Amino acid sequence: MTNSAASRLIETRGVTLISFDLDDTLVDTDAAAPARFEAVLRAVVEAAPATDRALLTRAHERALAADPIIDGRLGAFFAVLGVTGESPVGQAARRAYNDILPDVLEWMDGAPELLARLHGRYRLGIVTNGPSEIQRPKLDKFNLASLVDAVIVSGEVGVHKPDAAIFAHLLHATGVPAGSAAHIGDSLSADVAGAHAAGMTALWLPPRHRVAEERAADIAPPDAVLASLSDLASL
Ligand SMILES: [Mg+2]
Repeated sequence: MTNSAASRLIETRGVTLISFDLDDTLVDTDAAAPARFEAVLRAVVEAAPATDRALLTRAHERALAADPIIDGRLGAFFAVLGVTGESPVGQAARRAYNDILPDVLEWMDGAPELLARLHGRYRLGIVTNGPSEIQRPKLDKFNLASLVDAVIVSGEVGVHKPDAAIFAHLLHATGVPAGSAAHIGDSLSADVAGAHAAGMTALWLPPRHRVAEERAADIAPPDAVLASLSDLASL
């Protein structure tokens, strides 16, 4: 098994805590988007049967092409449709979008194997942005809380990535100093910038299904880039 740059870095820096982002790092929300919007379209047609079908098709296409981090798929959908998320149609769409997610969500490639391999060799954590009621069903589907030492959800602690304070919750919960901790995530602005702000090693897993956000000038490059989670299989 090849020893990737990322796993060498973890070993040479004496990392004992490995933290993961959830969405599009451990679980594949990008791949779930088409199924989620099938549910959204059904909900919109049910809530507002008179909705112009051509407009709906355009909103659907725009949503799937949107960058979920920068503008959000649902936001792009609402913008084309000319509704707000608070309107009755918007609320029905949002409910459908969120409710179906745990059912259609799958692991990212290599994630369960990697967590099983690291279990007992490293302290493990998850640091995720989002409301508890949306993040917890995803965590529960894969029993993730039982596979790691600590789960930090931004909606539960009141701070979100890239704020170093959310990583401080994880470091406190696991008793590991920042210099011995690494975080892996798909977002440069949330995961890489946040891990660095907290004094942790930052590993970037670029998005597989979409173009990565451009790295802002004030965000330092990640310490290593992963081709996939299997890059860490030699740890
Ligand atoms: Mg993510």
